[in-house]
Amino acid sequence: MKAEIIAIGSELLLGQITNTNAKFISLKLAEVGIDVHYQTVVGDNPDRLDEVIEIARKRADVLIFSGGLGPTKDDMTKETIVKHIGTTLVSDDEALLYIQQYFERSGRVMTENNKKQALVFKGAKVLPNRKGMAPGMAVEKDGVRYILLPGPPHEMEPMFTDEAIPYLLGAAGKKEVITSRVLKFYGIGEAELEHRIQHILEKQTNPTVAPLATADAVTLRITAKAESEAAAFKLIAPMEKEIRSLVGDYIYGTDEDTLSSKAAELLMRNGWTIASAESLTAGLFMAELAGEPGISSSLEGGLVVYNEKTKTEQLGIEQSLLTEYGVVSAECAAALAVNVKRKFNADIGIGLTGAAGPDSHDGKPVGTVWIGISSANAETETYKLLLSGSRNVNRLRAARFALYYLIKYLSAKES
Ligand code: ATP
Ligand code: MG
Repeated sequence: MKAEIIAIGSELLLGQITNTNAKFISLKLAEVGIDVHYQTVVGDNPDRLDEVIEIARKRADVLIFSGGLGPTKDDMTKETIVKHIGTTLVSDDEALLYIQQYFERSGRVMTENNKKQALVFKGAKVLPNRKGMAPGMAVEKDGVRYILLPGPPHEMEPMFTDEAIPYLLGAAGKKEVITSRVLKFYGIGEAELEHRIQHILEKQTNPTVAPLATADAVTLRITAKAESEAAAFKLIAPMEKEIRSLVGDYIYGTDEDTLSSKAAELLMRNGWTIASAESLTAGLFMAELAGEPGISSSLEGGLVVYNEKTKTEQLGIEQSLLTEYGVVSAECAAALAVNVKRKFNADIGIGLTGAAGPDSHDGKPVGTVWIGISSANAETETYKLLLSGSRNVNRLRAARFALYYLIKYLSAKES
């Protein structure tokens, strides 16, 4: 099966938005072994879209369209394809009901043009939209499959994964199940990770192991094909174990975990409370944690103590300590953690201090950060970072590293 992805939208051609939909669809298709031979981008123009379809249907078995399913005039994907393949549009009762309920829930009045969104190709498989209004659809005509998806990524992505992929696998007559496990890393670069597991990357077949790096984290996706999900996980388990034995120190979570969700999960599961004292991050650490639902049971609060005066006055950090070791020091980070824990009567205290840049801070080079973590009945731990980004990149990384070390600290405390 050969696929062509056709992204529709003049904003894409004008460079106003990036074609992340094509990237997402390509990644997902690669995971299930469907080859993408072409990615096309075309504006909101019926004639040019028609030309694109004419070319694509001759060179691909599946055409996957994104965008232009909405209610407005420039949304003309369905109308154009309908003409091209010679079918008709019918209103889908379920989709219409869903759209009506969507308006009721949000307390808005539904305008007439919104009904257009419930129109689907006659005989098409409707792909429900759980995050928005316009349903997607899949239809076959003269041996070519046409899959239509909405433009907004948060609507398109779950629809593609949950509805379109199973449809395509069914169409391809594939009985096998494809399952993945994602390992999430922090504090290790992509190159270093690949170097450490090089022999695995070289000999991989089933399961496959694929690294992916984003701006400040790295993931490894282990994907196995087998006749059932359980059999696929049996193939994944020993591979995961081997990877953990090599680079497990840097793994903070799996699958959908993020640094903040994992830290929150550990805190809440154990009923531990936390408070933070932040200098260079000025609240970024707390803000990341506060993004997690339910965290109010664990997050007591914190203080931004940005200068020496507030560190001493608000948190009782000894002036002699600051004079002897400096603000950017293990001693200061530890004292911030211990004192804020005491002040908020929390189980865990965390302190962040550092030189974000661009200027060095009392003789400590730019990017030097100290993180302290303190809890009852345990030694206070301190961690040093030497970051090399710009000021705000360093501040964000410091907050993320604090979450990462907190995860390690809490995992050890839990076991
Ligand atoms: P809507 O009902 O929101 O109008 P639609 O299916 O008609 O959805 P478009 O109008 O084409 O989709 O695009 C809506 C928005 O979705 C765009 O403004 C853009 O933010 C996003 N979007 C569209 N296509 C892409 C793409 N290929 N990659 C990333 N984002 C996209
Ligand atoms: Mg639109």
